[in-house]
Amino acid sequence: MAATPERASATPRRKAGRHRGEGQWAAGHFTPLNGNEQTKKDDDGLNVRTRIETIYAQRGFDSIDGADLRGRMRWWGLYTQRKPGIDGGKTAILEPEELDDEYFMMRVRVDGGRLTTEQLRVIGEISQEFARGTADITDRQNIQYHWIRIEDVPEIWRRLEAVGLSTTEACGDTPRVIIGSPVAGIAEDEIIDGTPAIEEIHRRYIGSKEFSNLPRKFKTAVSGSPVLDVVHEINDIAFVGVRHPEHGPGFDLWVGGGLSTNPKIGVRLGAWVPLEEVPDVWAGVTAIFRDYGYRRLRNRARLKFLVADWGPAKFRQVLEDEYLGRPLIDGPAPEQPVQRWRDHVGVHRQRDGRYYVGFAPRVGRVDGTTLTKIAELAEAHGSGRLTTTVEQKMIVLDVAEDQVESLVAGLEALDLQVKPSPFRRSMMACTGIEFCKLAIVETKARGSWLIDELERRLPEFDEPISINLNGCPNACARIQVADIGLKGQLVMGADGEQVEGYQVHLGGALGLEPGFGRKVRGLKVTAAELPDYVERLLRRFLAEREEGER
Ligand code: SF4
Repeated sequence: MAATPERASATPRRKAGRHRGEGQWAAGHFTPLNGNEQTKKDDDGLNVRTRIETIYAQRGFDSIDGADLRGRMRWWGLYTQRKPGIDGGKTAILEPEELDDEYFMMRVRVDGGRLTTEQLRVIGEISQEFARGTADITDRQNIQYHWIRIEDVPEIWRRLEAVGLSTTEACGDTPRVIIGSPVAGIAEDEIIDGTPAIEEIHRRYIGSKEFSNLPRKFKTAVSGSPVLDVVHEINDIAFVGVRHPEHGPGFDLWVGGGLSTNPKIGVRLGAWVPLEEVPDVWAGVTAIFRDYGYRRLRNRARLKFLVADWGPAKFRQVLEDEYLGRPLIDGPAPEQPVQRWRDHVGVHRQRDGRYYVGFAPRVGRVDGTTLTKIAELAEAHGSGRLTTTVEQKMIVLDVAEDQVESLVAGLEALDLQVKPSPFRRSMMACTGIEFCKLAIVETKARGSWLIDELERRLPEFDEPISINLNGCPNACARIQVADIGLKGQLVMGADGEQVEGYQVHLGGALGLEPGFGRKVRGLKVTAAELPDYVERLLRRFLAEREEGER
């Protein structure tokens, strides 16, 4: 059986052993080996909510305890944002408190990417009233605000929770948002709808102390779409829709994917999981991570390192023997998708005869006013349901055929294109230096500029192409799996001075042939040269590609 809360917080399954050096609880290692583990041991991250409501929101930013400010507040989706005006060259030099602004980034989790127009309106109103109009769609279907004052946090929670949204465990060493197919339950080609499993995992485990102290973040994806639309390859755990020859539709279980340091594609355990068993299997895998996951070094504390050391056979054995108490059913691998795009942008027929309409904001950037207008459009033309995607895009669901044209016109009037260029369609950018304390360079505005430049220079280009921009060596915009991944760093400008630029990674991909882009040795471009470089590269690709080559 999956671990109970009591066992979770205090009791290891195994006594001290040879893996002691990795700080695994299951090896009896409860003495914290770094500051993050100490903070979590001192007090559960979830407990900070009471202090925010009763102390910090009343007394202001300066009253916030340091370990809460830079640690536990993440358990409620709050990070301090970067003080304006500090250039990227100082990121690695300054102390964290010198980079901290008095305002917060706040992440709202949108599990499965599912939103109602009522929820979207509330998100838009909060953005306008408390977040200076900011609202970004993240690459994990969340909505992210900036400029949040600690004094306003309780009221924001009250409004979000009144419509069934929350920031619970949106960040921190926790089970983050559960991403799901944005067309679950409506797509004509769907194998199985994973929504009930997402809702049940959320109901049982999110905000529960059973899993509120994991070695690091834990990312989940569930999709029964044959398009493979939730980047399952790079999640800690993923349930991917398959048809079992005897048992019918269910899910193929993947574990151990992730980007950032030492990126890894997840591995299949060869197990088929029926819909109703997904929450128990999820809890078993999460408990393995909690108990056996490495806690000594933060950069080895993701599940992918344990999976790499154990291999899929041992991992499955431990899951079956110690956590589920029964064998899993063997099952087939997902079939490779044939679609050129996996993002659901455009107008598509649903299985009930209505349509869904996917559209592309620029690099995930919207704002409170636009979100409110999107909610109005969705209400006037659909049933009041929308979704966000893992490509920082949105979809209006349940649109009658005679409403499609008017909806498309309304969206395009807001610069939300339903038939975008390949550049606008797939470009992603992380938060970058505007708000992120780890950033070295600008990303969102530069991505938007790059879209304009490429649309003007290469109007004939019509291949799927992903160009992703990160503001630092982390992976928030998935540069490692982009066709062209741009990793922000300072580079040498023409005059020998350090300027903002990017290390280029080429040829990453998910889907048919997943793999990580190759870092082109020595190939760094300054920000100013970026459109020239990408144009040259794409023109050469057009001229020299072979039949079917990506
Ligand atoms: Fe910040 Fe780096 Fe993530 Fe961008 S990739 S949001 S700069 S941590």
